[in-house]
Amino acid sequence: MITSDNHVHTSFSTDSETPMETMVLAGIHKGLSSICFTDHMDYQFPSDIPSFFVFSPEEYFLELDRLAAKYASSIQIRRGVELGLKKGIAQECRQLSSSFPFDFIIGSTHLVDDMDPYYSTYWEGQSERQGILRYYETTLENIQSGIDFDVYGHIDYIIRYTPTQKQYREQGITNEAYLERELEAAFPVIDEILKQLIRSGRGIELNTAGFKYGMGHPHPHERILKRYRELGGELLSIGSDGHQPEALAYDFARVPELLRECGFRCYTLFQNRQPIQQPLS
Ligand SMILES: [Zn+2]
Ligand SMILES: [Zn+2]
Repeated sequence: MITSDNHVHTSFSTDSETPMETMVLAGIHKGLSSICFTDHMDYQFPSDIPSFFVFSPEEYFLELDRLAAKYASSIQIRRGVELGLKKGIAQECRQLSSSFPFDFIIGSTHLVDDMDPYYSTYWEGQSERQGILRYYETTLENIQSGIDFDVYGHIDYIIRYTPTQKQYREQGITNEAYLERELEAAFPVIDEILKQLIRSGRGIELNTAGFKYGMGHPHPHERILKRYRELGGELLSIGSDGHQPEALAYDFARVPELLRECGFRCYTLFQNRQPIQQPLS
C-alpha cells in the first residue's frame, strides 16, 4: 500500500483553489502517513498576469510549518516544489533551492519554446509527431541546464495533450496502438532522458494523473518505467499531481502491482533532499 502522496498542489499554485489545510485534512481522511506539497514555481512563464505560476516562498514555508506542527500527530508534511523548467531560469532556481529548506524538488517540462502544449496554438505549424519530439528534446535540454532537482515529473505528459489524444478523450476511448506508436517514435530521446537522469543521480516519478485523464496508464507509460528499471534506475517517487482534495492519492491502489510488474521492489520518498527507499509491499 502506498500511503504517501509526493506530488500535490494547493492554492499556492495558480491552477488550484484548494487551501493547503483542506489537502492536509483530505490526506488524513484517506489514511495517508505523509504528504509532500509540490506547488508550481514556473519562473518566467509567459503571461500578462503578474506572478503567474509563481508563489511567495516565505508565505509557503510559513503555512507548511504551521500545518506540519498542527497536524504532527496525524500526518507527516514534507516541503517540496515543482519547478517548471526552461532556459534562462537557472539562477532563480538556484536562489530558491539554496535559500529554503526543501525536502524534495520535482523538475518538469510545462513549456516548449515558451508555448504551453495544453493550448492548440502549440500544435499549429508543426506535425503532431514533431510537437511530441520537441517536448522530449526540451526535457533533455532542461536536464542538462544545471538546475537542481531530485526527480523529473510526468515524463510523457505531452501525449495527453496531442490533438489526436484529445479527440480520443472526448470520445471516451483509449487507443493503445496510437500510444504505442508515438512512444516508439520518441523512444530514442526518452532513452537518453532516462540514461542522463540515472547518470546524474536523479530519478523519475510515477504520476497517477494519467489514469485520471483517461489514458489508461500512469505518467510515464509502463514501457518507460520498465526501461528506466532495466537501465538501473531506482529513484522513483509516487504522486497524484492532485489539485483538488478528491484527486489526492488518485488510483494509488493500482500502483504497487503495476510497479512490481515493471521490475520495482521499492519506491522513494525524499526528506531534506535525500532519498529514502520504501518497500512496495
Ligand atoms: Zn507538472
Ligand atoms: Zn504538478
